[in-house]
Amino acid sequence: MTSTKIRLDINLEDPYRRARELKKEGKKVFGVSPMHFPEELIHAGGGLPVVLQESTEPVTYGLAHLYPFFCGFTRSVVDMGVRNKLDVFDTIVLGDLCIQLRHMVKTLKRQMPATSFVYTQWPLEISERFHSTVRGRLQRCKKDIEQLLGREITDDNLAQSIRLYNQNRRLMRQVIDLARAKPGVLRARDLVGLVESGMVMPKEEHNRMLEGLIPQLKRKRASSKQGAKVYLAGHLCMAVKVEILDLIEELGGQVVWDDLYTGSRYVASDASETLPPMEALTQRYFNLGIPCPSRMEPKYGWSDYILDRVKQAGAQGVMVFMVKQCGPMLLYYPYLKDVFERESIPYTVIVTEHEVVSFEQVKTRIQAFLEMIQRGA
Ligand code: SF4
Repeated sequence: MTSTKIRLDINLEDPYRRARELKKEGKKVFGVSPMHFPEELIHAGGGLPVVLQESTEPVTYGLAHLYPFFCGFTRSVVDMGVRNKLDVFDTIVLGDLCIQLRHMVKTLKRQMPATSFVYTQWPLEISERFHSTVRGRLQRCKKDIEQLLGREITDDNLAQSIRLYNQNRRLMRQVIDLARAKPGVLRARDLVGLVESGMVMPKEEHNRMLEGLIPQLKRKRASSKQGAKVYLAGHLCMAVKVEILDLIEELGGQVVWDDLYTGSRYVASDASETLPPMEALTQRYFNLGIPCPSRMEPKYGWSDYILDRVKQAGAQGVMVFMVKQCGPMLLYYPYLKDVFERESIPYTVIVTEHEVVSFEQVKTRIQAFLEMIQRGA
């Protein structure tokens, strides 16, 4: 398959480089834990929100500070914290959605005394009765952020930030739609790279990058080669290793949809531009566009979403990516498996780990799965 060569203005091996440059210019930098915190609140106060990323480096000193059975994301972030590699952040904001994230921040607090922390806990049930809880907690975070930035966050500032972030999400969705409609124009690894770069660089700059890229993608011709159509599901909080995405494509897979966090999930829904801004951010929490296994969504859950999208996108099978020891995924997966079996949807699960990934093993699994769905078995 041919693919467009895109030039990212960011080195994803060093995701906080741009943040460090801006910090030198006086910008206050906020590290934001995945996955649901409204970054607009920080942007509207003049700060730079940056979503915390898993490092490509092995966990070393961090081993002594967090249980080895915690997920790779939390262990990697703690490791960076104890090795003074998170000093770029003036503040770390935690939207608490699982016990491992909570412990990650407790440990960072002990290890990073010069850094401020903002904490909020999300209700895990998505129902109207928690509306005022979310609203109140966001209001409290807003006050904390105002104090840290030394300025009031006005409704006008917040409305402007919401418009900017919506624009970014719309542009990213356009890129995703083009990549799905025109197989071969953008590799899966580049799509993930684009989402990841948007998490760590100013949205103004990212929007300019996307505005330059979209016309190139529109001009590019799709490959005539048809692959085995797959839906990629899961992988909360951090990106799937790009080598695994390469394997899927090299072995003849064609990604027709995904709900990965460093993928469609991050940009799936907008905040209202007509409601008062704090209400708009509150309501967005209740409709993130893609239901999340970290929450209980009784009306329309993650499995409902996958079933609908598999049909719409014509996916022949689902690859579930599970971060090893991810609590929410471990809880949800048995139910998801039952749903796939009931609906006769071919699926496979690929467990990923921060440290060791045996690509040979993953390759065999992917190859077998793609062959199976192509045969229609
Ligand atoms: S949701 Fe999963 S991947 Fe994210 S921090 Fe919690 S355990 Fe780790």
